[in-house]
Amino acid sequence: MTPSLRVQVALPGPFWQPLSYLLPDDVANQATVDLQAWSQGWLGWRVAVPFRNQTKIAVVVGVNQDDGVDASKLKPLLHKLDDEPLFNAQDLAFLHWAASYYHEPLGEVVMAALPKRLRVGKPLSLPGVVTWQRSVLGQTVSVDQLSARAHKQRALWQAFCDDQAWSSSQLNAAFSQWQPLVKRWVEQGWLVVSEGACLAQKTLPASVRHSLNEEQAAAVAQVQASKGFRCFLLDGVTGSGKTEVYLALIEQVLAQGKQVLVLVPEIGLTPQTAARFEAYLQQPVVALHSGLNDQERHCAWQVMRRGEAQVMLGTRSALFTPFANLGLCILDEEHDLSFKQQDGFRYYARDLLIRRAQMLQIPVVLGSATPSMESLHNAQSGRFGYLRLSQRAANAQPPQLRLLDVRGDRLQEGLSNKALHQMREALAAGGQVLVFLNRRGFAPVLLCHSCGWQGSCSHCDANLTYHQASDSLKCHHCGFQQPKPKACPACGATQFVALGQGTERLEQFLTQQFPTHSILRIDRDTTRLKGSLAEKVGQARDGAADILIGTQMLAKGHHFPKLTLVVMLDLDQGLFSVDFRGAERMAQLLVQVAGRAGRASQPGRVLIQTHQPEHPTYQQLLREGYAGFAADTLRDRQLANLPPFGFQLLVRVEAVDSNQAVAFLEAIKDLLLAVPVSQPCEVWGPVTAPMAKRQNRWRYQLLLQAETRGSLQAWWQAVAADVYAHPLANRIRWSIDVDPQET
Ligand code: ADP
Ligand code: ZN
Ligand code: ZN
Repeated sequence: MTPSLRVQVALPGPFWQPLSYLLPDDVANQATVDLQAWSQGWLGWRVAVPFRNQTKIAVVVGVNQDDGVDASKLKPLLHKLDDEPLFNAQDLAFLHWAASYYHEPLGEVVMAALPKRLRVGKPLSLPGVVTWQRSVLGQTVSVDQLSARAHKQRALWQAFCDDQAWSSSQLNAAFSQWQPLVKRWVEQGWLVVSEGACLAQKTLPASVRHSLNEEQAAAVAQVQASKGFRCFLLDGVTGSGKTEVYLALIEQVLAQGKQVLVLVPEIGLTPQTAARFEAYLQQPVVALHSGLNDQERHCAWQVMRRGEAQVMLGTRSALFTPFANLGLCILDEEHDLSFKQQDGFRYYARDLLIRRAQMLQIPVVLGSATPSMESLHNAQSGRFGYLRLSQRAANAQPPQLRLLDVRGDRLQEGLSNKALHQMREALAAGGQVLVFLNRRGFAPVLLCHSCGWQGSCSHCDANLTYHQASDSLKCHHCGFQQPKPKACPACGATQFVALGQGTERLEQFLTQQFPTHSILRIDRDTTRLKGSLAEKVGQARDGAADILIGTQMLAKGHHFPKLTLVVMLDLDQGLFSVDFRGAERMAQLLVQVAGRAGRASQPGRVLIQTHQPEHPTYQQLLREGYAGFAADTLRDRQLANLPPFGFQLLVRVEAVDSNQAVAFLEAIKDLLLAVPVSQPCEVWGPVTAPMAKRQNRWRYQLLLQAETRGSLQAWWQAVAADVYAHPLANRIRWSIDVDPQET
């Protein structure tokens, strides 16, 4: 073969095509004529390449493609990094597809599929993970020897007594501020440190198994009967035993020696979830989420690729993990917005997972009590298999929903007397109460009492929220923060009014109203420390708190057996959203939060405090439940050609100079309108984004809509090259959002 053999590599950065490199001379001279065999020796391998006087880490994604570049212009690559390829042909085909569907540079997609350590050139082999376990001395120390009042210490020591070894991420997930205690115990000789295999050994408690009810068994049977690829929607009310169905399916696939990937929402992955899976399956489950350090991520990636573990439970990015032998994919809470990556590479994990399963010819199961309109439509039209669980398992009754009309009532800190009265009754009966308010902080607006000045963010088009604990004003969009002013910046007066309710204020008020009850607030402010969310959720579940105050962090997946009453405040705002998905999101939130109530033997009630008791959305949800709401919503969407009956692509622009932003979008629009299209395609805008300014940049957007994915993609493809070549393309920030979830 000629020495001009070349490979195409994916590098991180805005390269619209993989870059070509020549093979190192010594290799090129030895290359055999068998191109097929030769490709195998390069595709998917990690290589070092020279790039602008630097050495970069890249992955070979193509061999000997004709790139039209003269060989004399190409540099040879430096060397391979590993003894084996990182990705096989199937993995690469999937990454290629993702890059082209989302119009993202392939290099960025490939890098998203690699743990950071491998991106920066660290060796493939693993150094092992540090774990702590009891020493011989430690085994003689029982929890009772620790001070009875040191609850945290006792809980942590108990964990060491129950399990053989704990890694830092496992500790992080279950405990906050464990480091000083572990350090002290190592110094006292109670714990020993070991660096070992990256799957920490644990003894797994056995779990209770339920025999599946009829609907569950039917669901399992249908998935098992499918051959090759098929996507299923498991539409099951809250508490209907969807997780039991997943576990039964997983067990079958494991028995065939295959691996399983389970995706869950960002905040649904608590240590309890992983423990439930491990106890049922009696084998380690590899967790992959944002709480892991680089080494642990590398480990998780590696054990799945090597086939050393069979089950991975992860958040959205886990879907890029290469698997040795994947046999089933599951995605729980499929409606959840955290599956959509909202910046950078804006992929939708649900859609990519379906595509991946299709390429691998394996089944995929999407589960939810409140399915997205997209998935419902696919299930109703027969494209997905439709599995339903209509009843709560374990004899629990469905929660009773009631609207609490508060028009004209005196509200104290946003709560009506009726709601307070119901709370008292529920508490007196020994139940737990959840008050749901989806706004953190003390008050969303701080106002000057004499002139009406309002605290607003100087970088964004948004109010500053008053936080009492820190006596400061914070922007929830860009993170800007300032102390509360001593005097009004406009008129110098010193009296301010905090308007509206946040969870902090609610907590203060409820503490006054219920002095003898314990209150637990769970929102982003009270769960900043690593592990503290899991800790608080654990306390809530064990019934350690009588009253829970929570934002949407509490809406998902959690199981609070003692909870009998849920009071929802301020849902009304969801009725008037400008986003066409606003009502869908509100309905999902309502049903999910309501679903936390009465999951055990005690029945649950849900009160929705509203000024809009006659609003059709509420009325329908109460009368016909989520299914009725969904049927109407789908009908409306069809009339308006909105998703899932139409497809959208959003071009977003952010610029310091708003004229440039608009000019760029106008130029794109002109290009689009000049393309002859065969099927109806529409372009809307440019318009300002729902939040017109953020972090000092003006935001505009242009919406493309078409009847099929194919025509939308073709339309954009027709202008893409010209858009990238536009003089403004390199001067302002812009991005493409295919299937946007917030428009
Ligand atoms: P979901 O995932 O649909 O919210 P879960 O799988 O968490 O529901 O199940 C809710 C509760 O019902 C759990 O406590 C679970 O152990 C119990 N459960 C599930 N399936 C059965 C069954 N077939 N018989 C008895 N209890 C069950
Ligand atoms: Zn003033
Ligand atoms: Zn801001």
